[in-house]
Amino acid sequence: MAKLNENYLNLKESYLFSEIAKRVNGFTEQNPDKKVIRLGIGDVTLPLESEIIKSMHNAVDEMGKAETFKGYGPEQGYDFLRDAIRQYYARNGVELELDEIFVSDGAKSDTGNITDLFAVDNIVMIPDPVYPVYVDTNTMNGRKIVYIDANAENNFLPMPDESKKADMIYICSPNNPTGACYNRQQLKVWVDYALKNNAIILFDSAYECFISDETLPRSIFEIEGAKKCAVEFCSLSKTAGFTGTRCGYTVIPKQLVQINSKGEPMSLNKMWNRRQTTKFNGVAYIVQRGAEAVFSVEGMKQAKAMINHYKENAKIIADTMDKFSIRYFGGVNSPYIWFECPNGMNSWDFFDKMLNEIQVVGTPGAGFGKNGENYFRLTSFNNKENTIEAMKRFETLFK
Ligand SMILES: *Cc1c(COP(=O)(O)O)cnc(C)c1O
Repeated sequence: MAKLNENYLNLKESYLFSEIAKRVNGFTEQNPDKKVIRLGIGDVTLPLESEIIKSMHNAVDEMGKAETFKGYGPEQGYDFLRDAIRQYYARNGVELELDEIFVSDGAKSDTGNITDLFAVDNIVMIPDPVYPVYVDTNTMNGRKIVYIDANAENNFLPMPDESKKADMIYICSPNNPTGACYNRQQLKVWVDYALKNNAIILFDSAYECFISDETLPRSIFEIEGAKKCAVEFCSLSKTAGFTGTRCGYTVIPKQLVQINSKGEPMSLNKMWNRRQTTKFNGVAYIVQRGAEAVFSVEGMKQAKAMINHYKENAKIIADTMDKFSIRYFGGVNSPYIWFECPNGMNSWDFFDKMLNEIQVVGTPGAGFGKNGENYFRLTSFNNKENTIEAMKRFETLFK
């Protein structure tokens, strides 16, 4: 008999988005004439920019000719893309070597797959609320999780608690769902804590391109000492609208070494290389050519314009929150606005109120962890017209 991984029994039913869909469908069936505006979207909506499309078209043509056809590529990604990523980091003051960069099909896979490198008896520290992948993948492996509370008191930016020990620490900054972003001093405290405890930070920078405050770090490797204790995951999903095209990258410095039970050093870079060459066969050549175009001068200009479009929507939402003195987080260096439900309402009740009274759909904070109970997430990924209309309707809640 095949014995199954019973850790799966410990996973919480992920009913957030299906429950939202159920409530919205129920409403529209009863009220077919009412226009519902969705500001709950966690996916980009603008199409790929012309530089990316041009580059991918060329790559398609190359695949159709014997002289330029590509079969299996390097599992770690083509050098042309790794070099483009290396230069992107260098422009930001972070020097990397080519073989510290691993191209992947996205940050979700890598943040989950990285758990392959760690023993099950590590203690994992995860902020609440956060992107659910960290909790679920470690639960599948049967690892013990300790939560750190992100709340209004710490501006949704929890700091290390010396009384809590951990071996693996997940940090997502700018954060999904709260939009909160650590500054340099705060990340330095995390890096020092990790170094002191021989812990490893798994840093998700999927939203780094939304940071416009130049004093804020976009990579953990801007922090001194981080190359000895951190892995960084990033993705073109939010940077350039690649959620459906699929391309990300993970940086594992060669200095990142832990001492094993035999007292010998083990390199995480080498382990990840071994893991990827065994279980992964690389990202499509055509997609990697599209990704390369994102890092070109013109491609970056286009990516910035796209991000600015979303950020203008975020500002429209944030301005409305300001107008009614609603306490919120994010909205500036993030596509997300995370606000306190008015009058202490719980997030599902507020969801129903928004749906029934103004037909605006958002995401109840409770879906991201217990600290989200009284919070609500709106996103800037709808278009400007709908965002403006949604905020006009939002104002009527307070009349
Ligand atoms: C969207 C997102 C990602 C990106 O995932 P991909 O698999 O690259 O599309 C990673 N982390 C967080 C927190 C996200 O919200």
